[in-house]
Amino acid sequence: MRLEDGRVIVTGAASGLGRHFTLALARAGAAVAAGDVDAGGLERLRVGAEGLPGRVITKRLDVSQEASVVAFVQEASEQFGGANVLVNNAGILRDGLLAKEEGGWVKKLPSALWRQVIDVNLTGPYLMAREVVAEILKRGIRESVIVNISSISRAGNPGQSNYAASKAGLDATTRTWALELAASGVRVGGIAPGLVDTPILKNISEGSLKELVAGIPLGRVGRPEEVWLALKFIIECDYFTGRVIEVDGGSTF
Ligand code: NAD
Repeated sequence: MRLEDGRVIVTGAASGLGRHFTLALARAGAAVAAGDVDAGGLERLRVGAEGLPGRVITKRLDVSQEASVVAFVQEASEQFGGANVLVNNAGILRDGLLAKEEGGWVKKLPSALWRQVIDVNLTGPYLMAREVVAEILKRGIRESVIVNISSISRAGNPGQSNYAASKAGLDATTRTWALELAASGVRVGGIAPGLVDTPILKNISEGSLKELVAGIPLGRVGRPEEVWLALKFIIECDYFTGRVIEVDGGSTF
């Protein structure tokens, strides 16, 4: 698919990778419906996209809430005549060890933190893909792409059982939806970044970040524009489906 033919929905578009993807797509001439829970960030995105060749509309979206997803996809579909690309990018971290002995007490990972991460990182992409694909089938759109933003933490990472489980589950949906939907012209791909320089890194202490960077063969964190190259490839390459591309400086574990 040519980027300029994209009618793209990007979730988590107010910050980091989602913001970068939205602006890069609009620069290439694609129309983008950008959703996020962060209204201030969406407004900054709208202003930042002014004057670009592609149209950007912004609207509040909570991917973990079914009614919010249904309303968002409905409005984007009406404005664009049906989206043909979905980028499931919204994601959160709520790190913690499963159980940890601390001064005579055992601290447990609260179930609320488990649920929040699964709701946003796994249930969110399912709801978004379901609604977008339903519109694609209803409208008879012949060529379309879904991209799920995973993480190399999917393989398991101490302190991230909720996050790792959500991303491993997301990769399973990438493969499953690719198999289910290939005959309908829907390609489904994933990207598993390593550490990338976005505001999400605020959640990691300076000491731990230094240690993590020391373990990256290329010796630095990635840049959003380097992950964008993978997204561009997945959208443009009509023979790509069912796979997850790692963009991680060689640090896959
Ligand atoms: P970020 O925190 O900068 O951006 C995430 C965006 O998602 C924010 O704007 C946030 O408001 C939004 N969001 C959170 N909950 C939401 C919800 N319920 N509905 C809609 N939007 C919601 O983080 P980022 O680094 O840009 O992360 C983007 C994606 O990349 C995430 O899925 C993340 O897991 C993944 N990822 C990031 C890294 C990294 O190092 N930056 C590495 C691997 C994977």
